[in-house]
Amino acid sequence: SKAAGRDQFSFFAKQMNIRSERRIHLAQKLRQAIEEQRFEVYYQPKWCIRRNKIVGMEALIRWFDAHEGAIPPDEFIPLAEDQGLIGLVDQWVIKKACQDILQVRQQFGEHIQLSVNFSPAHFIRRDLYKRIAEILSETGFPGTSLELEITETFMATENESLLEQLNQIRDLGVEISIDDFGIAYSSLSRLKRLPLNTLKIDRSFIRDIGSDQDDEVIVKTIIDMAHNLNLKVVAEGVETAEQLAFVRQYNCDQVQGFLFSPPIPLQQLIQLMEQQESP
Ligand code: C2E
Ligand code: CA
Ligand code: CA
Ligand code: CA
Repeated sequence: SKAAGRDQFSFFAKQMNIRSERRIHLAQKLRQAIEEQRFEVYYQPKWCIRRNKIVGMEALIRWFDAHEGAIPPDEFIPLAEDQGLIGLVDQWVIKKACQDILQVRQQFGEHIQLSVNFSPAHFIRRDLYKRIAEILSETGFPGTSLELEITETFMATENESLLEQLNQIRDLGVEISIDDFGIAYSSLSRLKRLPLNTLKIDRSFIRDIGSDQDDEVIVKTIIDMAHNLNLKVVAEGVETAEQLAFVRQYNCDQVQGFLFSPPIPLQQLIQLMEQQESP
């Protein structure tokens, strides 16, 4: 009926209002949180399958608000991008992570690599590599041990300035990883042109190992393709021994996921690494 339709309309309108009110509210909180540096960085270890040890870690931002509780990055990172705040956020994360992981490297070895997530929004800045160079020199973190994870969806867009900027970043020794790989259908010729070091297989393909044969074929194919392009391959979201056995069988280089460790605070990471050292 018309009345029901109208009710439904006002229901949706109300939902949308709540949603946009929440966004406005969060955007204000976000600005304040940036000003007061009220974030934390957690680290999720990456394991080398062959050597069976931690060889690096991914920095993942955390925002715990006194009233809202934990606000997930999937909610506030896109907001920070929309609001033009992502530069400040990621800059803070990279700097903090470089400082933290320098400490970890001193204790556990210089082979340890740091990966940070890097929003495509940064690439509007022409002098992006200078900002990265500044952070490296301010913190003393070696560029060759830093990796930027950039989503495939963005890398798949044809963009000449992107290629130039990636090359400038590579000139600092910094490595480039293509995140959430497999969902944007990058062409091989495109991949060959980009200055990449690593492919990170999207979690959705790993999740269905053991239940979806198509996804298994995709995982195998991505690993082979990456190796043929001389790229390292990381499987993310490994939660079960079966998934690990599968990616190991096809010579995936590194794994990350709840099977090994969720993202954890620095002190817990150090404890985990100490346990690894002592047999
Ligand atoms: P991502 O880069 O794909 O990060 C992996 C996400 O999967 C993380 O969620 C991690 O906690 C989660 N994860 C790791 N292992 C497993 C697993 O075995 N199973 C499942 N189900 N999930 C797993 P998180 O920390 O909530 O981050 C979500 C996204 O937010 C990230 O996806 C990334 O795109 C973005 N993000 C996080 N931190 C930053 C940051 O500092 N800067 C930027 N630009 N983006 C960030
Ligand atoms: Ca990532
Ligand atoms: Ca990912
Ligand atoms: Ca993702």
